[in-house]
Parts: sequence; C-alpha cells; structure tokens
Amino acid sequence: MVTRNALLYLSRQERLKDFATRFSPFKKMTTRFVAGEDIEETVRAIRELNAHGCTASFDHLNESVTQESETEEEVREYLRILARIDETGIRSNVSIKLTQFGLDIDPELAYRNARRIVEDAARRGNFVRVDMEASNVTQVTLDIFRRLRAEFGLDDVGIVVQSYLRRTADDVRELLQIPARIRLCKGAYNEPPEVAFPDKKDVDENYIRLMRVLLSSGTYHGIATHDPHMIDATVEHAQREGISKESFEFQMLYGVRRDLQLQLARDGYRMRVYVPYGKHWYPYFMRRLAERPANVWFVLKNMMKG
Ligand SMILES: Cc1cc2nc3c(=O)[nH]c(=O)nc-3n(C[C@H](O)[C@H](O)[C@H](O)COP(=O)(O)OP(=O)(O)OC[C@H]3O[C@@H](n4cnc5c(N)ncnc54)[C@H](O)[C@@H]3O)c2cc1C
Repeated sequence: MVTRNALLYLSRQERLKDFATRFSPFKKMTTRFVAGEDIEETVRAIRELNAHGCTASFDHLNESVTQESETEEEVREYLRILARIDETGIRSNVSIKLTQFGLDIDPELAYRNARRIVEDAARRGNFVRVDMEASNVTQVTLDIFRRLRAEFGLDDVGIVVQSYLRRTADDVRELLQIPARIRLCKGAYNEPPEVAFPDKKDVDENYIRLMRVLLSSGTYHGIATHDPHMIDATVEHAQREGISKESFEFQMLYGVRRDLQLQLARDGYRMRVYVPYGKHWYPYFMRRLAERPANVWFVLKNMMKG
C-alpha cells in the first residue's frame, strides 16, 4: 500500500516526469505498456493483436492539457486515428479522457470537443469510450456522457465506472436506465476513504456485484480487469445464467497479462486490449507500476542492463 501510494504520488511529479522522459533506459522500459509514440506504431501493434483474435481501443496519452489550443490538437489527433482505423481496416475503437479535451479549463469546451469525436465515430460506424478519471471529475464526466448519449446511439458512445467508488452502484443503476454501454474497472487513482473503499476486499466484492448486474442487463458491456478471480467470477456467472460469450467483452491493458488475454481469446471470449500511445506516457506508466510494485524491480533491473 505504501509503495502504491508512493508511486501514485510520483506519477504526479512534474520534475520527475521531465527527467524520466529524457532518460532513455527508462523510456525503453515503457514499450512494455505503451505501443509507441505515434499512430503508425500503434496501428502495427493493433494489427498484431487482431491477428491473435483480440480487438483494441486506441488511447492517445495526454493528461496535462491546460490550454484550449492543445485541446484542438487532441481532437485532430483523434480524428486522424478514426480515419486511420477506417483506412487500415484494423479492428479498434477509441478511448478518450475528458481532461484531454479541456475538462479542467471549461466543461463546455470538453463537451464540444468530445462531441466532435463521437460525431465522427458515429458517422464511421465506430465507438467512443469515455474513460473515468479521478473522483473530483466523476459527476461532470457522467453529466457530459449523458448529454452525448442523448444525442448519439447506444453503439456510438459508452462510459466507464470504477468499483472502488462508493457511489458506483447508484451510478450503474441510473446508467442502465438510459441504457448505456459500460466498462467496469476497479479504479486507478488515489482516492480518500470517504469516496472510495480503502480495502481491496470491498473493491473486489463490489466489482463482482456490479459485474453480475451488468452481464444480466441485456446490454453489451466491457469487463476490464486482469484479476483471475474477477475473470473466473464473470465466466461462472455467464455460464450459470446462460449469457452467451458474444454478449459482453473482457478488456485488458496493453502489455499486462498477455498470456491471459490470448487464453481468453482462444477460449472464444471477446477480448479487447486498451492500447495507449504518445509522447506523454509518464503518468500512465507510473499508474501501471503502482498496480504491481513488483514491476518496479523489473524496470530497475532493465535500467541497470542499460
Ligand atoms: C481496459 C481497461 C481500461 C481501464 N480504464 C480505466 C478508467 O477509465 N479509469 C480508471 O480509473 N481505471 C481504468 N483502468 C484501470 C483499472 O481501474 C485498474 O487500475 C487496473 O485494471 C488494475 O486492476 P485489476 O482489475 O487488473 O486488478 P488488481 O487487483 O489490480 O490486479 C489483479 C492481478 O492482475 C495482474 N496485474 C494488474 N495490474 C498489473 C500490472 N500493471 N502489471 C502486471 N500485472 C498486473 C496481477 O497479476 C494482479 O495480481 C482500466 C483497466 C483496463 C484493463
């Protein structure tokens, strides 16, 4: 827990970020979790995943947007991604973070920018997933998602919920009424005990409860986890309730539990891999280390080797 919090703290330190992004042995280590720095490298990584029976979701890493002009760049990048998906025929949708589109500057700006992406995706028959970020933006993210969902279809735009948040069971109930396509994850940010369950046991129990509600809802959802207990519980629930393998998908992160990704795809489950890329990989990479501090030793060992 101490190591996790320390790594999450370091993920927010700008000075360390500047150092790490210039230090080439450290940068080299990111290729395990980050597909590349540009769209073409990511297309190659996704082709490889497609060849192994997995679909993907593009994620352009950039959480440090503070200027309106930068949000315009982000929109253009996502429009390029959607066009490249069509041109190359790879099987992928896109995931976006509203802070990337100006949520911290002005929620209206984030809404307008996100709307442009969803509109283009809908026109192309593709799908946009709105990621969930830290709890200070949960409500505004849900509000913007609801506006988008009111204008676009169930298969055009979806949302993410986090089982570590105390509020999530209520959010899921309301989202299913719309209805909405939901990605269920545990949650990756450092949250206070007033808003999030501090014990892993409670987070996991809530995850299983929510997974059952989602799978039995009749809408197509994403079960995002690398945790074998969560995966077994999902498979068991689906089998017990006669829910087909085509009516939901598992989702995992690029480079995490590749063995399990391939196994599930071989077993006939739908498997989507979230594929991050871009120059601003530092906070994302540090959150992945925080999830499994054993990875720190892996990184340090490889840095020693140069
Ligand atoms: C597709 C996808 C999208 C996501 N989107 C969001 C989002 O929008 N918002 C958000 O807050 N979070 C998001 N997350 C992150 C999520 O909230 C968790 O932080 C992350 O998935 C780790 O939780 P876990 O379910 O894998 O279980 P954990 O209990 O963290 O891990 C269970 C087991 O999985 C393996 N594992 C987990 N992480 C790693 C790792 N980094 N390296 C190696 N092995 C590992 C280990 O074997 C570990 O014992 C997303 C995750 C996925 C898979």
